Amino acid sequence: MSEWFTIEKIDDQTYAISEYKHWEQVHSYLVIGDESACLIDSGLGVENIHEACKQLTSLPIMTATTHVHWDHIGSHHAFDQIAVHEKEADWLRHFPIPLPVVKANLLRDPCDFPKSFDPSAYTVFQGEPTRILHDDDEIKLGGRTLRVVASPGHSPGHVCYFDEARGQLFSGDLIYAGCLYAFYPTTDPIAFRASIQHVKTLHVKRLLPAHYALNIPVSLIDEIDEGFMMIEAKGLLKQGSGQFDFEHFSIHI
Ligand SMILES: [Zn+2]
Ligand SMILES: [Zn+2]
Repeated sequence: MSEWFTIEKIDDQTYAISEYKHWEQVHSYLVIGDESACLIDSGLGVENIHEACKQLTSLPIMTATTHVHWDHIGSHHAFDQIAVHEKEADWLRHFPIPLPVVKANLLRDPCDFPKSFDPSAYTVFQGEPTRILHDDDEIKLGGRTLRVVASPGHSPGHVCYFDEARGQLFSGDLIYAGCLYAFYPTTDPIAFRASIQHVKTLHVKRLLPAHYALNIPVSLIDEIDEGFMMIEAKGLLKQGSGQFDFEHFSIHI
């Protein structure tokens, strides 16, 4: 049994698989249907998350990417079936950030890595996706469906996954209780804000973020929207405006 991952049950067919020992506190989610399962993101790649998933289901497991940042594709190599949005398929084939930069981030803060982990051998996944996703596509798992909700801003092909029947929104790096990032070249603060407004129209009952606190209220969507509204009202909704701190989150643009 891995000591690196923390597994928390959301419901009988949904699990959060978290990497709390790392400063980024990454969450990946195993979503189980009647015929197959889908892991939303594959974590940091410090340990093989596929092995952790196999303890939770015997069904075939694909991975679906919220976005192609290194901390969400770490164990993609362990999956035969990989889905990604069309706008970031090329990033899976050729990851755009140099490996030393990724490693500096991975090792930024002291962390109790497992003994089996060798940072010098760490690489970022590169490979061919098996499925290209578009806005409103459905991933059918048998008795359970995840809808692709294009939500660019943090990255150009960022998507959330929405289980409409359960009201679960797997929000990736669009919504979490921490500092939201839209300040580097491939981000877009205006698109980020539009994505928050789009997500507001969904009937979300449970937010399942990709970082930090697992239990966050749905009202955070409105709070983030209001945060963006305040920034826009000051004429500062553009890259380079800096970091804006609010009660439960920050926005760095
Ligand atoms: Zn990201
Ligand atoms: Zn992230």
